Amino acid sequence: MSLDRPVLSFFFDALKPESLAQMPFLDSLPYKRRMRAELGHSVTCHPSMYSGVHPDKHRHWFVWRYDPDGSPFRWARVFRHLRLLDNVGSRYLLHKFTGLFREPNTAWFSVPLMVNEPLRYWPYFNVVEDRAWDEPGYLRPYLTVFDILRGHDVPFEVVGMTKGGGDEFVQIGRHRFGAIRPWTYFFLGSIDGYSHHYGQDAPETIARLRRLDRLVEEKVAAFRRRVPDFDLIVWSDHGHIPIARRVDIHAHFRRHGHDIHEFINLVEANYARFWFRTDAERATVEHILSDLEPGFILTDEHYRRYHLQMPDNRYGDLVFYLDRPAIFSKSIWGFGRTQKSMHGYLPDYPDSDGVFLSTRPLVAGTHVELVDALPTLLDALGLPLPDYLDGRVLFDKRS
Ligand SMILES: [Zn+2]
Repeated sequence: MSLDRPVLSFFFDALKPESLAQMPFLDSLPYKRRMRAELGHSVTCHPSMYSGVHPDKHRHWFVWRYDPDGSPFRWARVFRHLRLLDNVGSRYLLHKFTGLFREPNTAWFSVPLMVNEPLRYWPYFNVVEDRAWDEPGYLRPYLTVFDILRGHDVPFEVVGMTKGGGDEFVQIGRHRFGAIRPWTYFFLGSIDGYSHHYGQDAPETIARLRRLDRLVEEKVAAFRRRVPDFDLIVWSDHGHIPIARRVDIHAHFRRHGHDIHEFINLVEANYARFWFRTDAERATVEHILSDLEPGFILTDEHYRRYHLQMPDNRYGDLVFYLDRPAIFSKSIWGFGRTQKSMHGYLPDYPDSDGVFLSTRPLVAGTHVELVDALPTLLDALGLPLPDYLDGRVLFDKRS
């Protein structure tokens, strides 16, 4: 094991390749590739990069899945029959009340409040993640990089991933290197939030990018004072696309003479998912969605191409994808009024790309994939690769 040559890595949520123009230190790293995202949001991308397998294996696609038997809101089934009580206040109370009685959920999203979702549908749904990415067993039965390192007794350090622990300038800025471990992982989460709120090209975000670039440069310099020789790897999970249109799917259903909540549904930023009790429901919803622009119902071909095939209907009997530059205005996350930019669009769009940067030569090609992160890290640490991986080692072994 090459413990004499540690790996220092930085992860940026949502950093676009074009934004490296604002980050002279990161831009000075010699080897760069574009990172192909998964078709989904962070909850899809993180499992892929930490496990080395695509969603059709790790099976994390959305925050919520259909799971009536496992729902934390099972006890609230009584609300199916008490529609008069369903308003924003009672949704907040039910969410709060449920939190008092369930096991703590340490995942990044925990058990979020479903804002524009009728209470009578809450007991159908369960969260996919029950713990943080770096906690043991996060992706069982698949192993994360954190699980694998623990299994090999390889010490590592994760900095910046503590929810509520402050932003990068607090968590990473105040961090001091003690004993150098084989792997040090700095997690930088704020560019995603800045991009949603201002756009990634906005002056506020650009100022932040420049400050973060200096923070990373300082950290790398401090590391180098301790260890002369190490591998530096920097990556992000996806890009960002400015929003130019808001689509009210509730109004669209009303124009067709229906209330969307006649159907079991979950509407998120740019996805609307449906579960059907009858064939007639499916036919009605397919008809209504056929003239909803811009977007389309995902087909088996999409599921194959983007590695999203699932063994059952946990993520929907039907998934409608709303295309760029649009988002849904009324979703389970709220009303999206403050959102200027979004991700989760087709990975084929250049603006969906993240970055991968390295101090070691990389294999040829314009793009790498999120699933390549884990095998590349394991290779840098001299650890064996599991045989089920979808990703590959990105270092060019000829050099
Ligand atoms: Zn985001």
